[in-house]
Amino acid sequence: MTQPSTRNEGEVAPADGTSDIVKMSDVRFRWPGPRSFSLAINDFILPARERVLLTGPSGAGKSTFLSLLCGIVAPESGHLEVLGTDTAKLSNAARDHFRAEHFGIIFQMFNLLPYGSIIDNVLLPLNFTAKRRERASQKGSIEEEALRLLASLGLETEDLHGMSTASLSVGQQQRVAAARALIGRPEIIVADEPTSSLDRDRQDAFLDLLFAEATEAGAFVIMVSHEETLGSHFDRVLRLEDIAVATRSAAA
Ligand code: ADP
Ligand code: MG
Repeated sequence: MTQPSTRNEGEVAPADGTSDIVKMSDVRFRWPGPRSFSLAINDFILPARERVLLTGPSGAGKSTFLSLLCGIVAPESGHLEVLGTDTAKLSNAARDHFRAEHFGIIFQMFNLLPYGSIIDNVLLPLNFTAKRRERASQKGSIEEEALRLLASLGLETEDLHGMSTASLSVGQQQRVAAARALIGRPEIIVADEPTSSLDRDRQDAFLDLLFAEATEAGAFVIMVSHEETLGSHFDRVLRLEDIAVATRSAAA
């Protein structure tokens, strides 16, 4: 099969594991406000199929970098290519759709819907992407796939039907958030300090389970943590200060 030289909006590079997942050049981003924080990324490439840990002290801009990477915010200028698509050039709606289709995101505070059931929370991304919904229903119903993921991530699935996430422990919420990120096999899993509230043994166990599922799905994982000691789980450890220049302007 020949590869087209240009791609339409929303189309992605083939998932053959050979191309770069992310390419950034001359990316500039600035949060609005009088004491604004800005990030400049001159040249950055993430090769496919690697597990990458991004570290840096609190306030360094790690979450901002992840927001740029997955298109929660758009750069002011520069080239930001994800899976062959320049997401900086997409409309807000197209970027939201691109994110839903290609990214599984585990937020630091998990961002679960407190009044939704556990299963509803896991299935949430499938409302925004037909492709992930289709993949999630390849082996049965999407509910069965949600339960399979929860079980493989170590959450007992008995009695989960109808339970709300408000009654879960932090460790259980983390597993729901991970299952939600993994469902429908997005190409890129982004995790923002997902283990920061766990002790080391639980962190290790959780990462083993997360990676087993991500590997099975052929997904690339980029995780942020201020704990560099987690690096042994990853193929590569990057420090934010080595890939981006952060600037904080003084109050006006
Ligand atoms: P980290 O994740 O490394 O702790 P962040 O990316 O969360 O760092 O924050 C870096 C800086 O960006 C913070 O000092 C803060 O001032 C600024 N910032 C983060 N989020 C926002 C936002 N939503 N609006 C304005 N400024 C923000
Ligand atoms: Mg952060």
